[in-house]
Amino acid sequence: MDYDKNNIFAKILRGEIPCKKIYENDYVLSFYDVNPLKKTHLLIIPKGEYIDLDDFHDKASEKEIIEFNKAITHVVKKLKISNQQDGYRVLSNIGKNGGQEVPHLHYHIFGGEKIGKIVF
Ligand code: AMP
Repeated sequence: MDYDKNNIFAKILRGEIPCKKIYENDYVLSFYDVNPLKKTHLLIIPKGEYIDLDDFHDKASEKEIIEFNKAITHVVKKLKISNQQDGYRVLSNIGKNGGQEVPHLHYHIFGGEKIGKIVF
């Protein structure tokens, strides 16, 4: 499967549509989910063109992989939902059975309230 350059997150990265930005560096962008499922619901995306975690691990540099994962901790600390406060959940949907809608790799981060069961 080829990366779709017209997916919504690619458009956000190109600045063609707005987002409510939380954090950005050379490797990642984090912004609030437009349809929050929990009190705090944000997304972290790599700036490179990767469809999902498998595509990312196949093609990305070690630096990109490290930066993408380190961004989780940076952002949850910034929003004060880290495990030094009340904790949070990280989730990545992959493909059809995973329920992925946007074909650009992203982590969902949920927090700000008790998240409940591991699958919902
Ligand atoms: P997934 O089902 O894992 O692909 O999740 C895609 C997520 O992207 C959903 O939670 C959507 O609410 C979110 N989303 C879609 N469009 C936007 C947008 N323009 N800005 C922020 N979040 C978005």
